Formats: sequence, C-alpha cells, structure tokens
Amino acid sequence: MNKPGKRFPLSLAELDDRGSRSAHTDENRTRTPQTATRNAAGNHGQGSAARAPRESLAPAVTPAPEARRTNPVPETRRTSLVSETRRTSNMAAVAALPQERQSPMVSDAVRRAMVERVAQQGVRDQKVLAALEAVPRHLFIEPALASQAYIDASLPIGHHQTISQPYIVARMIEVMRDNANGGKLDRVLEIGTGCGYQAAVLSLVATEVYSIERIRPLHELAKTNLRPLRIANIRLQYGDGMLGLPQVAPFDGIILAAAGMEVPAQLLEQLSIGGRLVAPVGGRHQVLQLIERKSRFDWSTATLEDCHFVPLRPGTA
Ligand code: SAH
Repeated sequence: MNKPGKRFPLSLAELDDRGSRSAHTDENRTRTPQTATRNAAGNHGQGSAARAPRESLAPAVTPAPEARRTNPVPETRRTSLVSETRRTSNMAAVAALPQERQSPMVSDAVRRAMVERVAQQGVRDQKVLAALEAVPRHLFIEPALASQAYIDASLPIGHHQTISQPYIVARMIEVMRDNANGGKLDRVLEIGTGCGYQAAVLSLVATEVYSIERIRPLHELAKTNLRPLRIANIRLQYGDGMLGLPQVAPFDGIILAAAGMEVPAQLLEQLSIGGRLVAPVGGRHQVLQLIERKSRFDWSTATLEDCHFVPLRPGTA
C-alpha cells in the first residue's frame, strides 16, 4: 500500500473498495452522551476500527513529515503538529498555477469579485477567503459553463450532481475552522468530492484532506480536474462516504457536501475530540448543522442556516 514515491491523485483510490458495503444509518443522530453511547455500540465495530494503526492506509503521496503519524497521538500534541508553513506553500502553489482556459470571463479580477460577494454575505475568515480566491473554479466546470464559474451559484457537473455554491463552500469551511485550536486543522474529511472543487479549497486550510465520492465517473473527474493543480495533500477515495474512513480517523473536521436526514453515526465517531463536523441535514427543507465533539461520548449540535444540497445516498454507483 505504501508507495511513497507516487504523487496525487491515486493514493486513496487504491484502497480496498469499501463501497459495496451498505450503510447503516438508521440510528438516531447523537445529541447526548446516552444516545452517543448507543450509536457507538451499534456501530458495527467502527469505533474500534477508528483506532486501527494508520499504517494500514499509508498515503501514496508523501505528507509533510510533521503530518506523518504512525500512532495515534494525544490531542494536545496533534495540534502542535500542524504546519502553517506547509499550508502557505500550498496556497502559493495553487496561486502560481498557469490558468488554463483563461479568458476575460474567468480572470483573476472576476474571481476576486466573487470572493468579495462571498465576504459581503458574511464570511469573515480571511484564510478561507484567500483560499477561495486562489482556486480556479472554472477549471472544475465543463468549458461550456466556464463563463458562469464565478457566479455565486451551484452548477451541474453531470450525473445529476452539482458543484457547490462558493458561498456555502466558504461558509462550511469557516465554521469548521472556528475551533478551539485557532483554526488549525490537521486532517479533514469531505463526503462528496463531486468535481473536486471544495477539496481544492480545503487543501489550502488543512494539512491533509481526504475526500470520498460514491459515483465512480465523478471520482475520476475529480482526479482529472485536480491533477494539473498538483496539490500534494489531497487523497481521493471512491466509496460510500456515509461510512467515513475509519482507517485514517480521527478527523479534526468533516464536511458533508450532500444532505441526509441525519448525520451518519460513523462520521461522528470519526471526529477527534474538539473536532467539528458541518453538514446539510434534511430533505426538501435543509439546514446547515454544526456538530462538535466535546468528549468521547458527548457531541453538541447547532443549527446555523437554511441551505440546499443534493441528497446523501448510501452505497456506490
Ligand atoms: N464537493 C463538491 C460538491 C459535490 S455535490 C464541490 O466541490 O462542489 C455532492 C456530491 O456528494 C455528489 O457528487 C454526490 O455523488 C456525492 N455523494 C452523495 N452521497 C454520497 C456518499 N454517501 N458518499 C460519497 N459521496 C456522496
């Protein structure tokens, strides 16, 4: 499994295909220690799997030395492992990209204007806004729609799915970053890679980004879109994101880019203590929820705002 010489994006795609497993999400979402304990117990061993040695999922890309962990380490130590320098250099790498398909409609100025609109809507986190400005969204959209890339709207990416609206991408990441560690994020997980846009934004605010997609052609599309950006700290996985990635848990942050009627208990179990999960929840009417893990058996939930996402679905396609 460990192929340190290889680079993004083939890393996680080479893992066992866990997508054929069905999801088990019927339990109540955890709000109290009591229900959390029950969910953990009904988690089909995910809790213990979450503490499996990390060597079982060695990344194909070489992570920053400070991010390479062979054993679980205490939370207090983990926070000090995050490298600001590394994140800054990722940002520089993306910003320095040759802008393919460059045209007046997709120029830097147009992208800056989009970021200003996102800021006007209330996103304050400068690091998130800078990341949004650095990622060329038009490269994640089919050429025919590229002129709309910097409108603050979701757009079709095929297979009845959409690239998320820039505002909501920024808002979710801002909320995830508003943690007790001053915004430091070591390892984060995204459910619903789609075309890979949000993963690229996340790569500029977290040391390691894992992203799962259940539709094979979209997983491939994300690889194709991300490859020219040469982002070394994203690992893509084809599979059912409702199961999370217990092999590499815990995560300091988890973002769901698709809405379920509840947040899968497996994902709550894969949050680190102090970790934050941001997810759309609901059917026709959806709200953005923030769930923070307070202790081993204790999660808090806050409802933030209305939103609209494609549905979270079990299994793979
Ligand atoms: N993150 C994307 C948004 C993609 S739309 C962006 O940057 O714009 C949401 C994606 O979630 C879809 O591609 C959909 O296929 C995927 N999805 C839905 N349920 C899923 C599941 N259980 N596991 C993984 N991906 C899922």
